[in-house]
Amino acid sequence: MIGAGLAGALLGILLRRRGWEVDLYEKRGDPRLRGYEGGRSINLALAERGRHALRAADADEAVMRHAIMMRGRMVHVDAAEPALQRYGRDDSEVIWSVHRGDLNLVLLELAQAAGARLHFDLGLAGVNFDSRVAVFADARDGSRREVPFRALVGADGAGSALRAAMHRVRDLGERSDFLDHGYKELEIPPDDDGGFRIEPHALHIWPRGHYMCIALPNDEKTFTVTLFLPHQAAAGDGPAFDQIRDTAAARTFFEREFPSALALIPAFERDWAANPVGQLGTLYLEHWHLDGRAVLLGDAAHAMVPFHGQGMNCAFEDCVALAGQLDAHPDLAGAFAAFEAQRKPDAAAIQRMALDNYLEMRDRVDDADYLLQRALELA
Ligand code: FAD
Repeated sequence: MIGAGLAGALLGILLRRRGWEVDLYEKRGDPRLRGYEGGRSINLALAERGRHALRAADADEAVMRHAIMMRGRMVHVDAAEPALQRYGRDDSEVIWSVHRGDLNLVLLELAQAAGARLHFDLGLAGVNFDSRVAVFADARDGSRREVPFRALVGADGAGSALRAAMHRVRDLGERSDFLDHGYKELEIPPDDDGGFRIEPHALHIWPRGHYMCIALPNDEKTFTVTLFLPHQAAAGDGPAFDQIRDTAAARTFFEREFPSALALIPAFERDWAANPVGQLGTLYLEHWHLDGRAVLLGDAAHAMVPFHGQGMNCAFEDCVALAGQLDAHPDLAGAFAAFEAQRKPDAAAIQRMALDNYLEMRDRVDDADYLLQRALELA
């Protein structure tokens, strides 16, 4: 398996339990030795779809020790007191905030305990599909390692190296649509007493028309704030990342647009300078497998914009589906084809919903009529 991120580690557990020999190759270092080098989206919203998959791997309990319940959205508009819009009728219908690093570590430990072999600092660099040999580059000394395989599973994320290698053998029908908006992460630390600075059991949103901030809680009593903003300003439009040239301009922008959020971020300048602007996009892929030799799942097959908080949840569902199809088919090609047929329509639906929710979160959560309608639906 290529990639020991979220999907790779979970699938490692599921496949080992079915008796498969599993080698997980990860281009980053071992997070247990060096700390987590995650890179993007520090925490994630875990929903029932993802928890269902975690339960199938007996990983739910260990993961939920790090999770914080989010009962609904807490909307910050103008000078009004923020109000909670519940996601469901009660605490049985909620989502959870989990730190990416904690989640990955828990799943890696369980994969190893189940017997998966973990290989860190080894990034896939090429594949000979005829001789079934994968080539890995060692990040520590630049050397190359050739590894024979029966089948490769690509859980190596949106920029999948396995997808690129497969594409050289078969046109996968790949298309990426990048959003005009990017994102930047900032941190709300604990308060002076070591507690949360704002309501912890909520996903906070500061909607501002064409851009917004959100904040999700972490179990060390911090929040990760994410600003979503256009990369470039179109003529006559509002602010954009390319117009905010330094930290002073960033502060001025926050003072004007997000004063209540800014007051919660004491190291604003440090965070702004340290954290890059991330790209967001949707990956559409016609073919997810190369007969019985390779298959893609998670972001490698269907990366999506994060506005429904379902990318990881969907990747986890893929893991259960692939394990189930491997149980149901005697041959790998049949299992991979059935997996693709099962999951492609679902992934496409979630990708569409994620784009739709982007528009909703951006433009409608401060819409009084909409809020009234939602309140009536929930009453
Ligand atoms: P990844 O998590 O990207 O893991 C891929 C792994 O492969 C990494 O460990 C990487 O180092 C490794 N790798 C890459 N290349 C190679 C190589 N050549 N060789 C070996 N290893 C390699 N989803 C949600 O469900 N809820 C959310 O709230 C949410 N919020 C998000 C917020 C943002 C800002 C973003 C960008 C995404 C968000 N997502 C969310 C989506 C979620 O992050 C992804 O869908 C999820 O990480 C996909 O998991 P994955 O295992 O497929 O890929």
